[in-house]
Amino acid sequence: MPAGQPADLIEKLVSLCKQRGFVYPSSEIYGGLNAVYDFGPLGVRLRRNIRERWWRRMVDLRDDVEGIESAVLMNPRVWEASGHVQSFTDPLVDCTGRCRKRWREDHLGDERAARGKPRDAPGCPECDGALTPARQFNLMFKTFTGPLEEQAAQVWLRPETAQGMFVNFANVLNSSRQRIPFGIAQMGKGFRNEISPGNFIFRLREFELMEMEFFCKPGSDREWHEYWCAQRMKWHVDDMGVRSANLRLRAHEKEELSHYSTATSDIEYSFPFGWGELEGIADRTDYDLRTHMQHSGRDLSYFDPQSNERYVPYAIEPAVGVDRIFITLLVDAYHEEEVRGERRVVLRLHPDVAPVQVAVLPLSKKAELTEPARELEHDLRRHFATEYDETQSIGRRYRRQDEIGTPLAVTFDFDSINDRAVTIRDRDAMTQVRVPMDGLVAALRDQLERSRANASGRARGGGS
Ligand code: ATP
Repeated sequence: MPAGQPADLIEKLVSLCKQRGFVYPSSEIYGGLNAVYDFGPLGVRLRRNIRERWWRRMVDLRDDVEGIESAVLMNPRVWEASGHVQSFTDPLVDCTGRCRKRWREDHLGDERAARGKPRDAPGCPECDGALTPARQFNLMFKTFTGPLEEQAAQVWLRPETAQGMFVNFANVLNSSRQRIPFGIAQMGKGFRNEISPGNFIFRLREFELMEMEFFCKPGSDREWHEYWCAQRMKWHVDDMGVRSANLRLRAHEKEELSHYSTATSDIEYSFPFGWGELEGIADRTDYDLRTHMQHSGRDLSYFDPQSNERYVPYAIEPAVGVDRIFITLLVDAYHEEEVRGERRVVLRLHPDVAPVQVAVLPLSKKAELTEPARELEHDLRRHFATEYDETQSIGRRYRRQDEIGTPLAVTFDFDSINDRAVTIRDRDAMTQVRVPMDGLVAALRDQLERSRANASGRARGGGS
């Protein structure tokens, strides 16, 4: 639990997200659908920022990574070859006592601890009832292509995007000018029929992944694994503004490792419900390429022109969920404080992820202010993520902008008509400066730059 946060933080975030338009329960008017959510106007902006920052760092700014988009539906043989049909399972146990809840056996200890009970207590974490022996439950959703629901037409909704990269390895190698080591990245929806979803958007049944397979020479994999662990940790702190004190890197124990991995480290965040995985960085070895070679009969080995060797590359995979980052950012940025006897809620989001960077607020609803303020907001759109708001009192509008994490608000008042100057209010310091409208774009750029520096300092460990 991040220091200084309220105990009911998740409940508070659920309500803030619904009220302000970040996250709504899916198909809510019909009672919702468990572990599926929709994203509102601000949620969409935040998600786009998360995706763009990831793509920029992982693809655009690199020479050695190419992007792809593979389809959600794939030939079902992919999932037989990858081992998912056989092994993408979780051990499920049922409570036979009072509560009849269903649990993941490997989560029982955490669930008991979250309820203040000993991790190795014998019964159900909820009601102490007896548990059934564990059964393996496959997490992949089944569906059918064509009109007949028969075995031959059965396909799966992908539980990860990774296989799209493996089956396209040769296509990308042959159509780009990449040589090993290089990576293939993509983002897109994944589906898992999770046994015990929950904690708001932490564990969903439909979610969005951002994954990269970095292909390297066998033997260099450990070094690349370490490299990517460091890179990814740095991204969460520098690009997302997550406080490093709330992050840790944890290497998996042998018995935790997936069927395809020899080493995996998780970047974990200290959520209100305990440490939880934010991102996984796995050494998948040559498992996937080899198994696709065997099942497809295609040669997916690589000829290294420098050393004249042929080998099947190893893959290092950093994999992270957009929704997981989303909840992490909200938890990490949420801040409550007393200001002049009133409670102020502020999301201290990094200015590059905040859904709105600059809000434009006319002091009153009078047309002499709203018209020029609207015009100003239109001009600023070309430079920043903006929002115009003329509803309610100025105090309430500032509060709303604080709650959605807007770093800067520009107020257009009665003096502005004559002196052609406006006030910039800073979200964190709540300071106000008056600047001429002529130089407004430059002044906002400067302030955002300062706000970036503050966010970085805070993330690296300076300030709260
Ligand atoms: P767990 O063991 O917790 O079920 P996992 O180790 O199988 O998860 P990965 O396959 O490593 O999860 O998934 C990679 C990343 O995708 C995770 O770090 C997380 O950010 C995201 N993710 C995985 N499952 C979900 C989910 N059900 N809902 C939202 N995000 C998810």
